[in-house]
Amino acid sequence: MNKIEHIGIAVKSLSASVPLFEKLLNTRSYKTETVESEKVNTAFFQTGNSKIELLESLDPDGVIARFIQKRGEGLHHIAFEVEDIESEMKRLKDEGYTLLNERPKQGADNKLICFLHPKDTNGVLVELCMEKK
Ligand code: ZN
Repeated sequence: MNKIEHIGIAVKSLSASVPLFEKLLNTRSYKTETVESEKVNTAFFQTGNSKIELLESLDPDGVIARFIQKRGEGLHHIAFEVEDIESEMKRLKDEGYTLLNERPKQGADNKLICFLHPKDTNGVLVELCMEKK
């Protein structure tokens, strides 16, 4: 795996949290994007070589809404950049990790993504992501 591509943070409201992170990071959010498949609105910030992704649920029963109900707002996932997502998914599956999706799926910010089940990674939700070419 390459660098940490981004860190995902679950928030109740992008309109409340984007200004907070703009002040914190001293940079403007460069993109907001809706990901229908995940039922989220996202906002991205560039921080050096990595990014921060804020996630707001579009659906009161969506994964981000349920996460916030259980654990409150905060760190949601760590995303690693990979060169070849299919081969990395196969490698991790062969190592015994549980993939939450069997095929790469469309993520925000022009990425193909796959999540690993946090039960195998000390409770940390890990995302693999590959830039679509
Ligand atoms: Zn992400």
